[in-house]
Amino acid sequence: MHYFDIVVVGAGLAGSTAARVVAEKGKKVLVVEQHRHIAGHCHDAKNEAGITIHTYGPHIFHTNNKKVWDFVQQFSDFNCYQHHVLSYAEGRFIPFPIHVDTINEIFGTHIPASEVSNFLAEQVQSSKFTNPPRTFRDAIVAQVGEKLYELFFENYTRKQWGRDPSLLSAEVAARIPVRANRDGRYFSDPYQGIPSRGYTAMVQAMLEHPNISVLLGANWFELKNGLNAPLTIFTGELDKFFDFKHGKLEYRSLKLVLKTFNKEHYQSASVINYPNDYDWTRITEYKYFLDEQSPHTTVCFEYPKPEGEPYYIVMTKENIARREHYMREVETLEKTGRWLFLGRLAEYKYYNMDQVIAAALQKVGTI
Ligand code: UDP
Repeated sequence: MHYFDIVVVGAGLAGSTAARVVAEKGKKVLVVEQHRHIAGHCHDAKNEAGITIHTYGPHIFHTNNKKVWDFVQQFSDFNCYQHHVLSYAEGRFIPFPIHVDTINEIFGTHIPASEVSNFLAEQVQSSKFTNPPRTFRDAIVAQVGEKLYELFFENYTRKQWGRDPSLLSAEVAARIPVRANRDGRYFSDPYQGIPSRGYTAMVQAMLEHPNISVLLGANWFELKNGLNAPLTIFTGELDKFFDFKHGKLEYRSLKLVLKTFNKEHYQSASVINYPNDYDWTRITEYKYFLDEQSPHTTVCFEYPKPEGEPYYIVMTKENIARREHYMREVETLEKTGRWLFLGRLAEYKYYNMDQVIAAALQKVGTI
């Protein structure tokens, strides 16, 4: 067995960023990945129609962190894709997130952007919620009132998380902006785009370094006793690492159903949300992301489910409290200098891609 300074568990964005940073500092790194591919949940690949499919559902890169943007640019060019979403409500496709056009569509008004704040304040005033808001429901109602909440958020959230929105943390609501202006983009970060050759190629470039070795299809839990590296960076599920000693943390999963059609386009936006109708939450038409030209198109229907590949952490009181028990153990281990926990699964945090990279750069930067 070769000698490695550092073992990284997981070849997703957290693990690959960490591996690259330490490899550049001269450390010999072994990355152990249980799947037979790199790039974790941002893995993508072209299908038989020549369209790049995100294996684990749509990933759109956006950040306001210049350090993160500069970091990823080293490994890939990005196109200038700006994400726009429609929401299917009341039998129509409405621009989402909520901004001036959404309001005028729903209420049949013609108010200018300058009146949106007042309009929403009136909606909020006639609504019931607890202030300051502690739950997902109240956090949304406090911004847009009950009518818009019920139309766009309540049922989508029930489908996505399989529970009442009042049982979810207000933090989840902070992901979705409400805008008193004309900006209809899903994200307003200054840096946005999709890696021109895909996420897998970007992560491949990150891992291409003489100090990095990658072992695919390997279960670290089975190998760990034979790998005595001075430092292990773990990016897998937090509760599993500790053999579930404080109980199981919930991770929400998805069933993804892909369909290819013999026509140029299936829908008029890359992503359409379905808050109230059907069992899926959203449909993604992948060719929009890289503006791929093809007489065919492939779309992906997302059906949330409780078990399976862990996609999302679930921000309920119980899970957040349980996380605290695990994080105390993590702190103790990290203090020894022999362990680091990184990423959405290992920190049990609803990170976006850029936040994962930022956390990796920050935590690993001092090694
Ligand atoms: N959400 C909603 N309606 C929508 C879009 C999002 O109620 O049309 C809520 C839902 O609870 C969702 C959360 O906002 O889980 C975060 O949405 P985001 O688009 O960030 O979800 P992700 O892309 O992480 O699945």
